[in-house]
This record gives sequence, structure tokens and C-alpha cells, in this order.
Amino acid sequence: MGWKVDELHKLLNPSSVVVVGASRKPGKVGHSIFKNLLESKVRVYPVNSQAEEVLGVKCYPSVLNLPEVPDLAVIVVPRLSVPQVMEDCGKKGIKYAVIITAGFKEIGEKGAWLEEEVVEVAKRYGIRFIGPNCLGVINAVAGINASFAPEPPLPGKIAFISQSGALATSILDWSVEQGVGFSKFISIGNKADVDEVDLLKELKDDPDTGVILLYIESITRGPEFIETAYEVSKTKPIIVLRLGTSEAGARAVSSHTGSLAGSEAAYSSAFKQSNVIRVGSVEELFDLAMAFATQPLPSLEKGVAIVTNAGGPGIAATDACSKLGLELASFSSATVDRLRQRLPKKVQVRNPLDLIGDAEAERYRSAFEELIEDESVGGLLVILTPQDVTEPEKTATYLAEVAKRGGKPVVACWMGGKMVREGIEILKKHGIPNYATPERAAYSLYGLYLYARLRQKAVGKTRKPPEIEIDEESIRKIIQLVRSVGRQNLLETEAIEILRACGIPTPRGGLAHDLDEAMKIAEEIRYPLVMKLVSPQIVHKSDIGAVRVGIESPREVEDAFAILKWRTEAYAPFAEVIGVLVQEMVMGGKEVVAGMYRDPCFGPVIMFGLGGIYIEAVRDVSFRVAPLTREDAEEMVREIKMYKILRGFRGEPPSDISSIVDVLLRLSTLSTRFAEILEIDINPLIVLPEGRGCVAVDARMRLSPE
Ligand code: ADP
Ligand code: MG
Repeated sequence: MGWKVDELHKLLNPSSVVVVGASRKPGKVGHSIFKNLLESKVRVYPVNSQAEEVLGVKCYPSVLNLPEVPDLAVIVVPRLSVPQVMEDCGKKGIKYAVIITAGFKEIGEKGAWLEEEVVEVAKRYGIRFIGPNCLGVINAVAGINASFAPEPPLPGKIAFISQSGALATSILDWSVEQGVGFSKFISIGNKADVDEVDLLKELKDDPDTGVILLYIESITRGPEFIETAYEVSKTKPIIVLRLGTSEAGARAVSSHTGSLAGSEAAYSSAFKQSNVIRVGSVEELFDLAMAFATQPLPSLEKGVAIVTNAGGPGIAATDACSKLGLELASFSSATVDRLRQRLPKKVQVRNPLDLIGDAEAERYRSAFEELIEDESVGGLLVILTPQDVTEPEKTATYLAEVAKRGGKPVVACWMGGKMVREGIEILKKHGIPNYATPERAAYSLYGLYLYARLRQKAVGKTRKPPEIEIDEESIRKIIQLVRSVGRQNLLETEAIEILRACGIPTPRGGLAHDLDEAMKIAEEIRYPLVMKLVSPQIVHKSDIGAVRVGIESPREVEDAFAILKWRTEAYAPFAEVIGVLVQEMVMGGKEVVAGMYRDPCFGPVIMFGLGGIYIEAVRDVSFRVAPLTREDAEEMVREIKMYKILRGFRGEPPSDISSIVDVLLRLSTLSTRFAEILEIDINPLIVLPEGRGCVAVDARMRLSPE
């Protein structure tokens, strides 16, 4: 794939580090970082022109005076000094830096220029850097803490990349208490250079990392993110949390990082296209992280077994599974027989398996042993509520024993407080994730199944948009013509011509400047016809009655011509009339819409949805970031609610879905090749029954200003 393997390896695995701005004063960031590094497994040098030594280590006035070229510079100097320090690092030959200092792009224009300055110096010397405005970098497995986090995380299999430093600190705090360990912990701040795409590539082959968590506010390299995440997801799950999706949230994000938050539609599409698992809260992020870090993946064709000692929570787990689309296993008859023998008569052997309130550890154990061996069971969800005879600790020990032999994911829900605390500790110690509620336990199993499915789907595949021929020459000519008269909006006739040049079916027809021409065109195509006004000022033609459909005869052509003329004079006297479009009327199809807009981070985004006048009210639409693969386009069609209707509803013939997929792919090609087209709107695209294709009967396009 052309990854630059190991490019950032030394950044995350330095042997020697210099802290520029190391401070003697406890409580200062430059002090904490130096102290953390002093306690790390690296050689560390303090640079501070005002100090002789920091924490007993000899200080240097500048990186230029260091006795060796360290692998990494951690920079915590005042903001205006950062470019100079980077310059010194460059001269010294230092290749990697982490810039902790804040006061750059995140504070607006006052800081943006400084950030550009830093980037310029870094480029000149070939320095790769993280930050500015970040918490730092921790390699917990190697025992290196180049951050000012007060407490380093435990070592473990989770890599965490965070765009927010504050969130990162609270997560660190949480993780230590939960006993959750990390491989790498990276706060990327303003990501002026190294971003999540670079780090995903780096972590792809990191043997210490089993799962990657990403807290993201904005993505700047949209298409690269999709491609990279898709590749990395084949070997490691990527769990993404992106907040700031509501209006107010979006504003908070942009004032926070100074980056332009792209629209939610583009983000949610991109996450689907990149095969990442998107969660909606910090809680879900960690629930899944715990499951992925400790549990094997389930076999997809096998279901979930739920074991409980209380009916209510068992039902809650069952409902949660069903909402998430997780199937419950139906136990094999051999399992059922053995369970009947081993369990008391009053226990009904079924899934969810309710062992009843008086279940002691032995009863649970019988269930665990039988279910983990059952061929139909893909994973176990075990619930325990503390009742009279319940043995939370012993049950936990049994579950841990059984989980070890199964090769199947096991998640637990020891519900309660003090009475189950010891039991939960035992589960934790044996790497069985425990969740406070049955719903959360179910969600984490769902995450494992989801990833198993995404991975299976992607195996051996690459995201490859199909090669599509379009007549670029003709398209360019039309665009030039429109520009030459100083317009940005294309006329319907021009837009339709571009679609035709893309190989998208359009109706037969032509532009008439007077009634005679209209008659002539009408003769060439068969009735019924549609006639519409063509004017650069009239965007929604039917709003002023400037579309006449169902024209059956020359007589009606004449009438329609007169009506259109009259309507325009009455309702749009300002409009410059180019002529009347006489079109073949497409009958017997369904109206859908297809289009494109440009997202500031992701570039062209293709849209598909239910057409007609209800589009705004119903908003039954789907989006994908271009370039689309065939699978993307197929998913777009399947995703809308109207899909059921397109597939053929109540005896109606199914619509020609593959022709829609083709149109979407052609729109994708057009919009990736012609950056000057800002927006496309085909409304309606009329889809005919299977085998008969579809026709774009109305189109709008807008060009960028020259
Ligand atoms: P506008 O969107 O500017 O009002 P359209 O060209 O989309 O104008 O026409 C309005 C409606 O008329 C369409 O949504 C469609 O239902 C119908 N229509 C327009 N052109 C045709 C055509 N060639 N064949 C069938 N129906 C058409
Ligand atoms: Mg229309």
C-alpha cells in the first residue's frame, strides 16, 4: 500500500529525549514532563537557559549544546520561542518533536500564523512533530512518559489517540482505576503535522497494539483517513468517538481546536466507508475497548448465550441484543439434555438461561461448562445479582476458569455495589470485562460481532473505485461556455448535457426558442411530452408553473408554449428567457434524487434519496464520500427507507437498482475529476422497472467562482 513503515517509530520509541523548557518549579508543565521522563526508560536532557540543573540533572542552555543528538525533543517553551527552538532542533539534526506549548491555531488568527511558521521550519529540516497544544505522548509498554499526565497508564493493548488533551487526562485517570492498560497514549492537539492518519499507519503493525481508540473532533485529510482506516481495520479494530455533531457542539469544537468541523453527514459516511466502529459516548468507547482488549472475536454464525440469576436483567439483556441485531443461540439438544441433568428441575433450560435467585456458584458453573462447549454458542453474557445464597466471588472464579478454555468472548454484569465488588475484582484480574448494566454488556458483545463482520467483509479486498469513462472534453467545453458568460449556475439544458457526457441516461429532447422549433422537436420525439421553461433566474420551475407535463398533441404543444410564456411574464417578469425545453415524458418509474456537494474536509460527498416534493419533509437520504466503490454505491441505495419500495412492494415490479448504482458511480467520477463543480442535483432521477434503467429528467449544477 506504500506505507512508509517505521517512519514515526522513533517518535513513539525514543531512546533519548531532550525537554526544551524543562523547569525547576514543581507544578509547571515543563517540570512535570521532565520528571516523568526522568522516571522513564530513556536518557533525558533538560534544556533551560536560566538553570544550572533540573532535578539534579545538568542543564544545557540550548539543544545545540547537547552531547548527543536525541531521538526526540519535547518542547514546552513560551509560544513565541517555539519556531526558534524548532530551528535549533533542525540544526542539531533532531528528527522528531512533541510541541506541548499552546497558543497556536486554537486561539484563532493570532496563533495561526505562528503555527504556520513552525510547520515551515519543520518542513525545512524534515522534522516530524506532534502538537502543538497537546498533552504529550506515552509509550506505556516501553515505559516512556513524554507527557505531563500526572499518573502514567498501565501497560496494555489499547492505543489511544486523542484530539482533546482534557479528555485524555480524564481517561487516563479512569483507566488506572479500572485496571485498563494502554500501549500508546497520544494526544495530538492541533495536529499541525502528525495526524490520526499518520498514527494509524504507524500503529497498524505495532505488535503492542491490539485495538485503536480514536477521539476525534475534525478530520482534515478525509479521503486518506478512509483509505488508511479501512486498511488498518483489516487487522485491528478502530473505535472512533466524534462528538460535536449538534449545531452547538460543532461550534464548541471549532472554537476549541481552530479546525473547521466538517458536516455530520460526511463524517458518518466516512466512518462507514472506513470500516471503523463508531461509538456515541466516552462510556461506549471504553466499554468496547475493554472487550476488544481482553476477548477473542466470536464466530459470526454463532449466537449469544445469556446466563442470569434474575429474570428482569435477563430480559433487559435479551432486549438489548435484539435491538442491536445480535441473535441468541439456540442450544443443541445434547446441551439441553446435559443442562437438564445438572440443573435443578425448576430451572427452565432455554436462552436466556435463568438459573433463578437461589443459584449458587456451582449451578452457574454447570451452565458455564455446558454453554462454552456448545457449538451454537458464539459468546457468553453472564449476569449476577447479589441475593441470599449468591456467591459473587466463587462464581467469578468459575467463569474465569471456563472462559480460559473456550476461545469465545465472555462478558459479565455483576450488578450492584459493595456485595459484588470483590467478585468484579476477580473478573478484572482474569481479564473478563464487567459492565454495570446488562445493556452495556450486550453492547460490548455487539461490538465484537460487528468488528468480526466488518473484517470478514473486507478481507482480501481494497477500496477500489471502478474505472469509468466519461467524456471530459465535452464537459470541459460546457463549463468553459458557462464561465465565458459569467454564470455560476448551469441551465437545466447544460447540466443535462454534462450528465449525458458522463454516460448518465437523459430524456430525448431539445431547447426551442420559438413555437416552430418546439413543434419540430415534438415531431422528432414521441408523445407524451414535457415542456419547461429554461431561464437562469428560475431555479424551481414548478413553483411558478413553468413545467407542463403530459402533452399529447401538437395542439397541446401550442397551448403549453403560450401558457409558459404567460406564466413567466406574470410571475417572473425579471427572468431572462432562454427558451423552452421540450422533453420526452418518462413514464412508469419512481422518482429518486441523486446529487453531490463538497465538504470542506472530505471533498465531494454523493447523496442519494427519495425524490419528489417530500424530500425536505422526509429526508430519506444517504451519503458517501467520493470516490465511491461499487459497494459504497450499493449500500447507499440499500440504506434509505424507500429501498423496500424500490425492491418491489405489493406486487409492483422491482426498480432497476443497478442503474441507480451506475449513476452514483458516474456522479462520483464526475465530481472527483471536475473540482470546479461545487454542487450537483438530479431531481428527479426517474427509475424504471428492472432492465429498463433510469433517466435524469431534471438537473442543476453550480460551479465554483473562477
Ligand atoms: P423543477 O424541479 O424545477 O420544478 P422539474 O424539471 O423537476 O422542475 O419538473 C417538475 C416535476 O415534473 C418533476 O419532479 C417530475 O415529476 C416531472 N417531470 C419533469 N420532467 C419530466 C420528464 N421528462 N418526464 C417525466 N416527468 C417529468
Ligand atoms: Mg426538479
